[in-house]
Amino acid sequence: MKRIVVGASAAGLTAAEALRRRGWGGDLTLIGEEPHPPCDRPPLSKQILPGVWKPERVTLRSLQDLVRLEAELRFGQRATALDVEGGQVRLGNGESIGFDGLIIATGVTPRHLPDSDLAGVHVLRTLDDALGLRAALLTGPRVVVVGAGFLGTEVAAAARTMGLEVTVVEPEPVPVRRPFGDRMGALVADLHRDHGTRLRCGTPVCRLRGAGGRVTGVELGDGTTLSAEVVVLALGSTPATHWLAGSSLRLRDGVECDALCRAAPGICAAGESPPGTTRTSAPACDWNTA
Ligand SMILES: Cc1cc2nc3c(=O)[nH]c(=O)nc-3n(C[C@H](O)[C@H](O)[C@H](O)COP(=O)(O)OP(=O)(O)OC[C@H]3O[C@@H](n4cnc5c(N)ncnc54)[C@H](O)[C@@H]3O)c2cc1C
Repeated sequence: MKRIVVGASAAGLTAAEALRRRGWGGDLTLIGEEPHPPCDRPPLSKQILPGVWKPERVTLRSLQDLVRLEAELRFGQRATALDVEGGQVRLGNGESIGFDGLIIATGVTPRHLPDSDLAGVHVLRTLDDALGLRAALLTGPRVVVVGAGFLGTEVAAAARTMGLEVTVVEPEPVPVRRPFGDRMGALVADLHRDHGTRLRCGTPVCRLRGAGGRVTGVELGDGTTLSAEVVVLALGSTPATHWLAGSSLRLRDGVECDALCRAAPGICAAGESPPGTTRTSAPACDWNTA
């Protein structure tokens, strides 16, 4: 008898803890792609990026708490396929692990633009993303943030506190318009301008520009190009369900579940779902986002 949780962040960790709390005494395995113990994401943009906190402070649980869970911890391992009928999760190293109960908590993954693999292009989702972006910001670049949702505006604010030249590009007329509307968005825009951030709202980004494998700027829908050594993509996210393709689970903007989070007999899904994030900063240009 074995329970597996795939995805070792807020939802996966707390699901594993809930299993133990509710009396599951059998084998329990927690599988997570990130190479370190689960960490809290909100401080990544607010405290880690501007250097207010050390990375150790964002861990969700102490080592002792993780040991107390009495689970097999498989950090740094990616699930690559699910066999629903056979009760098996396949890992990136080729290994298959059998289960009679599975919790899927693989969350979301950031949206990209074509050419996102240019050096100097960043997303912010994981601790490693945050540390990589902070290191890049410390070199004093001009920064363009693509997307003025929560994440984009937080990154812009952090970069401004580091004294950097920052431009935020957003297809909507004001920042954070989808959650807050025009009036609140205009106040947020004023606040950012007061702190020296340049805003290009109502203008979509059409493409990244690069030379020699490095990003050099972004081309906007109105034909202008903003030069930048660092470009941060804050375009919302899509469900991290690629590994479930080919399984018999129904995938539609996430894992389709009933009211009790059941996706199939013995299989549940929990955690972040994308509605509200997938549509953040939807561009007017055809981005072909991956
Ligand atoms: C920078 C930042 C700031 C944020 N600030 C706030 C805030 O202020 N307030 C707020 O309410 N929310 C905030 N959020 C959102 C919040 O962090 C998420 O809602 C939360 O992380 C969702 O947790 P989750 O466990 O469902 O998913 P995730 O955190 O996405 O975790 C999923 C985990 O599964 C792993 N995984 C994915 N695919 C696989 C696979 N195939 N195999 C193995 N592992 C896999 C991933 O590596 C990840 O560790 C912020 C997010 C970010 C990125």
